[in-house]
Amino acid sequence: MTPRAWAAGTLVVLLVLLAVVAAVTIPWHRPPAPRADQLAALGQLPRDQVARAREFHSALRPGSYGAMAIGLLVTLALGLTPLGAWLVTQGGRPFGGNWIAQALLGGLLVTLAGEVVTLPFAAWRHTVVVRYGISIQSWGGWTVDLLKSWAVGAVIGAVALLGFYAVTHFAPRWWWAFGAAGAAVLVVLLSFILPVLVEPVFNKFTPMADGPLRSSLIELADRDGVPVRDVLIADASRRTRAVNAYVSGIGPTRRIVVYDTMITEATPGEVVSVVAHELGHAKDNDVLTGTILGALGTAVAVIALYLLGSWAGLLRLAGVDTIGEPRAIGLLLAVVSLVGVVAAPAQAFVSRRIEARADEHALVLTGDPATFESMQRRLGTVNLSDPDPPTWEYLYSASHPSTVERMAAARAYGRGER
Ligand SMILES: [Zn+2]
Repeated sequence: MTPRAWAAGTLVVLLVLLAVVAAVTIPWHRPPAPRADQLAALGQLPRDQVARAREFHSALRPGSYGAMAIGLLVTLALGLTPLGAWLVTQGGRPFGGNWIAQALLGGLLVTLAGEVVTLPFAAWRHTVVVRYGISIQSWGGWTVDLLKSWAVGAVIGAVALLGFYAVTHFAPRWWWAFGAAGAAVLVVLLSFILPVLVEPVFNKFTPMADGPLRSSLIELADRDGVPVRDVLIADASRRTRAVNAYVSGIGPTRRIVVYDTMITEATPGEVVSVVAHELGHAKDNDVLTGTILGALGTAVAVIALYLLGSWAGLLRLAGVDTIGEPRAIGLLLAVVSLVGVVAAPAQAFVSRRIEARADEHALVLTGDPATFESMQRRLGTVNLSDPDPPTWEYLYSASHPSTVERMAAARAYGRGER
C-alpha cells in the first residue's frame, strides 16, 4: 500500500472514531427552556436595559464582522495566490532560504499580515466596549494585552510550525502520520499546560480571604465530589467591569477562580450559583472531552491537508511544489481559516449543549432556581449581553444559551420539568 492509501484509510478510521466520541460525549439532550418562559423572562427585564444591550451589540457588529471578512480575505489572498509563498521566501532569504528560517520568519510574516489588517477593527471594538463602560482599559493597557497575546501566539505558532516542517522535511512521504500524531499531542499539551502558563501573563491571582463565601464555595465543591485546592480571586477589575468565574486545572491542581468584579457586583448566593455551574464543567470532564475531540479533529485536519496536497491546481494557485514545504504556509492557513468559518456553527452548537448541561448541574447542586435566575439576570446586565440575540447570530456563534433561555431553564427546573 502507498502512503496515500494508508493516509486515506487512517482518515476514515479517525473520522469514525471522531463520530463515535462525539456521539457518546456530547450531551444531545437539552434541558427544557420553553419559549413561553423565555418571552416572559424577557418581558420582565427592564426595557431600557434590553435596548442598551442591543445597541451595544449593534455597535460591535461592524468591527467583529469587518475583522472576520477582511481577515479571511487577506488569508485567502495569501494562500490562494503566490503572494504567501513570496512572503515566506522573503522571510528565509537572509538565511539562504533555510527551511527553519522560512518556517519561523515566513510563518511570522504571513500571520502578522492577517493580524495587522484586522488591527483597526480591534481598535474600533475597543472604543465601543470603553464607550459602553464594559472595558476600563486605557490604550496603553490595551496595547500591552495585545502584544502579550501576540507573543503567546508567536511562541505556540513557532513550536507548531517548527515541529510540522521538521516532520515534512525529514519524512517527506509519511509526514502525515507523524504530523497527525504530533498535532494531537500538541493539542493535549496546550489544553492542560496553557491555562497554567498563560493565565498569569494576563492576571494576578490571590487566594480568597477566609470567610463565609470561601467556606461555602469549598463546601459546595466537596459536596459535589469535585474537591478544589484553592479559591482564587483574579484582578479582572483593572481592565473590565464584566463578571466571570471558572474552574481550572485537573485533579490536585484544580482551583476555583472568581473575578474580583464578581465579588463586588453579585450577591454571595449568585457567586455560589456561578461556581456551581463551573463545577459542572469539572464534574462532567468537559475540558477533557473538548481536548479529545480537538486532538482527533486536528489529526483529521493534518491528514486531510496531506491528501489535499495532491490537488495540482491548488498548489499551482499558491505557487508551491508541495503542501509540505514552508512556502505553503499561506495555503495551509487559508484552508484552516475556511474550515473554521464553516465549522463555527457546529462548534457553537456543541458548546451551547455543554453549557446547558452545566446550568442544569448548577440547578441540581444548589437546588435554588430563583438565585440561579437572578444570577443570570445579573450576569446579563453587568456584561451587557443581548438577552435574546438574533437567531442567525445565535446559531452561528453563540457559545452559551441566551440569558432568557437560561432563565427559562431555571423556571422549568423549578416546576419539576426535566
Ligand atoms: Zn460554562
